[in-house]
Amino acid sequence: MAGSSDVQARPAASGARHDHGRCIDAALARAAALCARRGARLTSLRRRVLELVWQDHAAVKAYDLLKVLDREGGQTKPPTVYRALDFLIAHGLVHRLESLNAFIGCPAPEPSHSGQFLICGKCGDVVEFEAPEIAAALETEAAARHFTIVRRTIEVHGLCAACTGAGHA
Ligand SMILES: [Zn+2]
Ligand SMILES: [Zn+2]
Ligand SMILES: [Zn+2]
Repeated sequence: MAGSSDVQARPAASGARHDHGRCIDAALARAAALCARRGARLTSLRRRVLELVWQDHAAVKAYDLLKVLDREGGQTKPPTVYRALDFLIAHGLVHRLESLNAFIGCPAPEPSHSGQFLICGKCGDVVEFEAPEIAAALETEAAARHFTIVRRTIEVHGLCAACTGAGHA
């Protein structure tokens, strides 16, 4: 797919060995910088929720976040956690994957975008990519139908290279 690129700069699938601690550190640093620039408050709960969403490259369910936060004590009421997620989503730091009813950290929150995702049904790995031609095609088709797009998140389900043994890392 010419013109498209993995938003996520990392070696192949999450199954592949890489220093994921660096992914988490980078995500938290990005979030801190973005919030500082926007005058938004990255509270300790919002930061912790983001960190948990980034625990690996698979999508995380709110239920699992709640379980961990509950174990840790503190502000763990579900509405509080959902508000933290809403904040992270509003700032583009986290995407909601409707088809999984789960959340995934965004490796490149700016500029704001709806997200295009390849979701592995076996290992759960999620890769976000950005193919401008897909977005352009949707805009064209929608405009032809006088349809106003509110959100155009694309969630594609299948098997990643690691799971099909087609890895070329
Ligand atoms: Zn990683
Ligand atoms: Zn994204
Ligand atoms: Zn996989």
